[in-house]
Amino acid sequence: MKGDQIWRVHADSSVWQTGRYTVFEGSHRWKLPSLRCSACGVVWGDGTVCYPWVDLSSLPNQKPLKGNVVCVVSAEELELYRGQVRPLLGVDLPLPPATNFGPFKGRHTAGKVFDFNLFLGEHMLSRAAYEKLREKGTLSLGATAVQVKNRKGEVLDYVELHVLPRAELGAPKIQEPRQLYCQVCGFDQRSLPEPLVIRRSSIPAKEEVFQLKDNTGVLLCTESFRDSVLSLGLTGIQFEPVSVV
Ligand SMILES: [Zn+2]
Repeated sequence: MKGDQIWRVHADSSVWQTGRYTVFEGSHRWKLPSLRCSACGVVWGDGTVCYPWVDLSSLPNQKPLKGNVVCVVSAEELELYRGQVRPLLGVDLPLPPATNFGPFKGRHTAGKVFDFNLFLGEHMLSRAAYEKLREKGTLSLGATAVQVKNRKGEVLDYVELHVLPRAELGAPKIQEPRQLYCQVCGFDQRSLPEPLVIRRSSIPAKEEVFQLKDNTGVLLCTESFRDSVLSLGLTGIQFEPVSVV
């Protein structure tokens, strides 16, 4: 909440260093197509933006929106798909190319299972951990059940948090040589300022976990959320302090 210390959330790096990080291989039910930008020539999509509660089954042309296929379109075509999705989203939120919708379905293919699975922009945790955090009153975010089976075919009871792109940088990004940034489509390889600084006025009033709007691969949380995670001894997650201006 406003005034709190804000923390950056990472997957537990001790797990990453040993190469045993958790992999849930799969996809969400739907996703926006990727974009081929006529201005910069880059083909790209941002898989870190997920709205798992949004149901696209009412849309007329499902094939290009299937989560497990790669579909590449022009900016004009992408805008048509965005126009179809916006009313279903209900609020004005970013819709970059390859935004994911609907429940995640997949298989646990590598690594040990921890309370949190934050691999490659996923925002998942075990239902037991989710319910403990809810009981403590430090997590009001909604969550959608994910459908993940392990190698024995058993269902892993995980949920995906409804995290949204909210926070804004409090200092400009840094453009190193050879890093691309396209003002037309938003493709952006620029580096984040170090140390990471976020703008206080952009911290959401009620959400305990949220993404950085300027780079949705960055996950942030409040002090009370971190305190609860640590006091419950939940695994698979680490925290780093972030400056606020
Ligand atoms: Zn571009």
